[in-house]
Amino acid sequence: MWSLSEVRTATAATALFALGLVAHLAGGPAQLGWSLYLGCYIAGGTESGLAGLRALRNRTVDVDLLMVAAAIGAAAIGQVLDGALLIVIFSTSGALEALATRRTEDSIRGLLDLAPERATRITSVGEEVVPAAVLRAGDVIMVRPGERIGGDGDVVEGASEVDQASITGEPLPVDKRTGDRVFAGTVNGTGALQVRITRPAGDTLIARIVTMVQQASATKARTQLLIEKVEQRYSLGMVTATLALFVVPLLLGADLRPTLLRAMTFMIVASPCAVVLATMPPLLSAIATAGRHGVLVKSTVVLEHLATATHVAFDKTGTLTDGSPRLAHVHVLGTTSENDMLAYAAAAENPSEHPLARAIVTAARDRGLTPHAVEGFTSRPGRGVTARVNGKLVDIGSPAQILSADSQHDLAASLATATQDAGYTTVVVRIDGTPAAVLSLTDQTRPDAADTIARLTALIGNQPVLLTGDNPRVATRLATDLGISDVRAGLLPEDKVDAVHGLEATGSRLVVVGDGVNDAPALAAAHVGIAMGRAGSDLALDTADAVITRDELATVPALIALARRARRLVLANLAIAATFIAALAAWDLFATLPLPLGVAGHEGSTIIVGLNGLRLLRPQAWHRASRTEPTGKDHDQHR
Ligand code: ADP
Ligand code: MG
Repeated sequence: MWSLSEVRTATAATALFALGLVAHLAGGPAQLGWSLYLGCYIAGGTESGLAGLRALRNRTVDVDLLMVAAAIGAAAIGQVLDGALLIVIFSTSGALEALATRRTEDSIRGLLDLAPERATRITSVGEEVVPAAVLRAGDVIMVRPGERIGGDGDVVEGASEVDQASITGEPLPVDKRTGDRVFAGTVNGTGALQVRITRPAGDTLIARIVTMVQQASATKARTQLLIEKVEQRYSLGMVTATLALFVVPLLLGADLRPTLLRAMTFMIVASPCAVVLATMPPLLSAIATAGRHGVLVKSTVVLEHLATATHVAFDKTGTLTDGSPRLAHVHVLGTTSENDMLAYAAAAENPSEHPLARAIVTAARDRGLTPHAVEGFTSRPGRGVTARVNGKLVDIGSPAQILSADSQHDLAASLATATQDAGYTTVVVRIDGTPAAVLSLTDQTRPDAADTIARLTALIGNQPVLLTGDNPRVATRLATDLGISDVRAGLLPEDKVDAVHGLEATGSRLVVVGDGVNDAPALAAAHVGIAMGRAGSDLALDTADAVITRDELATVPALIALARRARRLVLANLAIAATFIAALAAWDLFATLPLPLGVAGHEGSTIIVGLNGLRLLRPQAWHRASRTEPTGKDHDQHR
């Protein structure tokens, strides 16, 4: 607390003021009282005064300077005590503001203390402990029991359970064995693991989360930018009004002292301190709270957008489903044996990040098949992959993409239709131009999907939309189970963008939730794009405006409810600030407002507004937001 200069100056000013008051009341020599009050002025006013003068040189009027000027004015007409009191209250409220800001920043920074510092690298001659920052892709590190994992990579040796709570918030440790991916900053359990690093330190999931959070706290909300623009004109107008209040009555023959006092009191109570503090604390507090509960919001502007969203669209695979599909059936078409075909397919899918690709690779691994080498891998998001494996050209993708209209693929096409009718996501494997297999895959719906859809429908008053690249039959089946009736299936990535534009053209402000590379364009096009962090692709993470790190869909309605609450707090704060300014200014103009009372009212409103914003830092804020009842009882929905 003492590291804040605002706190030190406020304490010094208060102490000097108290001593001055004691000296005064005890009937000490007048010089002693005066010099103690002077000390109070210097201690509490110098920093703000100098900052205000610097601002003046940049042609901006700083309200702090006005406060100092008012205090000096008070001293000039013999009201030293009132002036010193003004300095005390003013610097105390400055210190409270600084403490409040620090608390928000701390709780944002608390999210960042997760990055690992060191790692044990395995070299040809043994092991060496190196800073995690120097790890490169391809390095192999040793992770001993209980250690924090030093980098993002794949397990190449060993088995253990890893606590991923720092990234996903998931309380239960996750089993990891050879081939599984682990993340920097997560904590190893009782086994030892050797991990081949797949990303340089600056590019790990946790590093990117850190950057995102830092950027978020550095952005200014649109409301704030607007306020700052208006504030300048307002301050100038206020200074002009103050001068007029002083000069005009004097010209008309009024007494100097009461006129100056009234003008100064006006300047203080009309200052927009509380207005300036109305916006950022609630928004930043909401960002910090969401961050602690597994959603990273990249800027305060995003939070403002979330508060005004009217529709939500979900991707299917990896978003409404948990993104770890299983290969359920294999229908071999040609002469290639099932295992041979699968070894080719797995080789071609190995470089792909798509959940379906991982399912095929896992299936091959479970059968103990050794993967072939691949060349010339290309992936077309939303369509499939192509690669050369062992000299053969392998294409894998949706039936619509792989099986062209010509009738020579009748058998494959009817098989594909049949598995789709049975509710499976279906992909076709083609080797050297001939369909070799139809694979059916199932993916589990996330356990909280139905509840999330119900809550969102109640919260924003509109049913979510499903946007998917999968076939209409699978999509409709899943949507019906979850309570979604607007289903748009078979969409390529560009079709998803068209769908977003189409929905937004009708005036809705759309939140898109997705995970894959195929969703990135839609995430970018939407009013707000939210990416599923853990399973999500890098591109989706980078494009999205917010990232769900905890892998819980239920955070989407909670986040929107919290954003709305932050917005309501901003509006309430602005109303409080405006009311105080109007009431105190009117009191001063049309009656006599004592200077200390004016100061107390003004600073009091500033403090109320500041603390009001911090309410969203409390744990209850999130609980309340996530409790939004699916029955529609919550008053939030009427906004
Ligand atoms: P969603 O929109 O549901 O997340 P995608 O757009 O990622 O689905 O994929 C749409 C379809 O494209 C999949 O159902 C699949 O048939 C095909 N596809 C995309 N990528 C791949 C891949 N790597 N391997 C096989 N099929 C793929
Ligand atoms: Mg997806």
